[in-house]
Amino acid sequence: MSTYKTEGIIIKRNNFLEASLILDIWTKDYGKVEAVARSARKAKGKLKGHLELFLDTELILAHGKNIDTITSSLTINSFSNLRNNLEFSFGGYYILELVDRMTIEGHQDERVFCLLKEVLLFLDVGTRQCLVPTAIAMTTLLFQINLLNLTGFSPELNKCVLCGKPIKAGKNHFSFSMGGIVGQECILQKEAERPIGRSASRALISDNAIKLLRLFQFKGGDLREYNSHLNKCFEIIGKLKVEEKLVLDSVFLMNRFIEFNVERKIKGVDFLRGM
Ligand SMILES: [Zn+2]
Repeated sequence: MSTYKTEGIIIKRNNFLEASLILDIWTKDYGKVEAVARSARKAKGKLKGHLELFLDTELILAHGKNIDTITSSLTINSFSNLRNNLEFSFGGYYILELVDRMTIEGHQDERVFCLLKEVLLFLDVGTRQCLVPTAIAMTTLLFQINLLNLTGFSPELNKCVLCGKPIKAGKNHFSFSMGGIVGQECILQKEAERPIGRSASRALISDNAIKLLRLFQFKGGDLREYNSHLNKCFEIIGKLKVEEKLVLDSVFLMNRFIEFNVERKIKGVDFLRGM
């Protein structure tokens, strides 16, 4: 049986048969891969403890007819601080859920792997530096926007999606169905045409929220350019002083946009409501 080696992060883990596991792994070289780990739940199994959620691991997989099989897993990074901190791990679960929902098997993009790994590392280190709740929410927002950018759903934040004119300060809306901002003038015109009832597919967005979203927007580039973009984003999170409500409102807005695109609820967002 032919085998292949890659680094991957475990994003989903389900029991299978008596002692096995079915896993979804976001790998560096092959994108999202579904694989089975036979006897992984046996007390003395060699894979025991090496296939937990969040783990960044070096894997050897064997090609299978229907599903590939994990034959070896060596932990590179366990993100133990993140996993042992309730608030941070909820943030982590949300991130895993997003990457699982927004990507499909066979979608290969090393930048997605890089985003996932760097954000988990940032949160893991953040537990030791007592990262404030606002910074956790900012990191979540960074992840949302970047994953939207890398999966082809970049929100339009500079021009009105209806008329194409530059966005001016004022009462602008974010349209989920059109994937970006609708300027105040177009909103007024639409409301004049159809005065009864408001559209559920858009929501008011403040000028500061637009500025915040723009900070994290990735405009395209290779892995090296992407890495430097991410580093700049982390610097911003470390320095920028913003109101927590503004960040959370932006996270919920982007979550609605993501839910609109994937056509299902993202359950993990609820962790932020309790912060
Ligand atoms: Zn317009």
